[in-house]
Amino acid sequence: MNDMTSVLDSNLDTLFDAHVEPARPAASRSRQVPVRWGSRVVTVGGGAPVRVQAMTNTDTVDAIGTAIQVKELAIAGSEMVRITVNTPEAAAAVPYIREQLDRMGIDVPLIGDFHYNGHRLLADHPACAEALSKYRINPGNVGKGDKHDRQFAQMVEVAAKYDKAVRIGVNWGSLDQELLTQMMDENALRAEPFEPQQIMYRAILVSALQSARRAEEVGLRADQIILSCKMSGVQDLISVYRALAKRSDYALHLGLTEAGMGTKGTVASTAALAVLLQEGIGDTIRVSLTPQPGEARTQEVVVALEILQALGLRSFNPSVTACPGCGRTTSTTFQELAKQIDDYLRAQMPVWKAKYPGVEKMKVAVMGCIVNGPGESKHADIGISLPGNGEAPAAPVFIDGEKALTLRGDNIAAEFHALVEGYIDKRYGVAAASH
Ligand code: SF4
Repeated sequence: MNDMTSVLDSNLDTLFDAHVEPARPAASRSRQVPVRWGSRVVTVGGGAPVRVQAMTNTDTVDAIGTAIQVKELAIAGSEMVRITVNTPEAAAAVPYIREQLDRMGIDVPLIGDFHYNGHRLLADHPACAEALSKYRINPGNVGKGDKHDRQFAQMVEVAAKYDKAVRIGVNWGSLDQELLTQMMDENALRAEPFEPQQIMYRAILVSALQSARRAEEVGLRADQIILSCKMSGVQDLISVYRALAKRSDYALHLGLTEAGMGTKGTVASTAALAVLLQEGIGDTIRVSLTPQPGEARTQEVVVALEILQALGLRSFNPSVTACPGCGRTTSTTFQELAKQIDDYLRAQMPVWKAKYPGVEKMKVAVMGCIVNGPGESKHADIGISLPGNGEAPAAPVFIDGEKALTLRGDNIAAEFHALVEGYIDKRYGVAAASH
């Protein structure tokens, strides 16, 4: 026995008495911002669930096309949807988009994304200003020199007049260059100048916090303001948001800007957002994925929901636990079954949300062999352990931790499917809820 082994052994004795702290996000640190449309409201921050939002990529002038995409994003799970408002025509289309959504029964607030000319568009199109529930203002894109403060104030005044929420959204790709230059110059005069990266971080924070203070001076309440400081580097984003959360109690919009496509964009967004959300930082998230050719815009919503669900912050869909497969199973049966069940559960959720309250917390296991299959299936609400290579062609099914029956033959997939449906109806159906 070497020294390492004896140290471990003595520590293991104490483990039985040790309390293992669960990893939980910190309590909410932010003010709550109501985002209203008509008599409806979505709350952001201040203990509200972390909200999911998305942005359209249609031409806003195409009011029908935009309303359809907003509808798709909302059905996928986006609780707020941002649209570009970049021209007078786009501003004129906004009330029609709102009207279309109301007509389709799509209960989601619209956010207007303004750059450069937002002050004019909001002043010239009061119906647009009213139809939007929230304005996104980028302090780096509201005008240069003496126009900067005036145009920023004009937008804030409209928000105050119509009682709208505002996101002050700094983006390092469009950071206020005058502020950055001024801070770089001041840094150069220091006896021990900071690294340029540090100045960049500080300029982003100063731009956001100074703009928020200015918005309050102009007439916004603190509970109308949401801040964001988006960066495209994971470590940059984490550093800046930690600093931002320490220095203010405004609600925070969190997202990695220009995350990229596919796996890269998904992983980078998840890595950045997970660290911050776990620390209780972030009240609404957007995953800025570039859709791959042919990919639906709703993919960014799917990823955002998965991040929140994986962290245990919210539940949206029943989860399917599936093993990765290995040399013990060479058939693809369990992969196909896991995918079928996952697709089926997701497709049903829009209807099930109302019909089967609580079903989003259900856990289903689809496992490939006897090694972990029965154990993992027992931890799920309903699970199946498929036969691996050389095992008897039988698939035990576990319900609520107990072995319920064994499926055999060529029809295992369809039979398990039916068992899942029956389980959902029995456990989450209205009849079950009323007992
Ligand atoms: S459950 Fe079986 S098939 Fe699946 S990964 Fe584990 S050992 Fe491999």
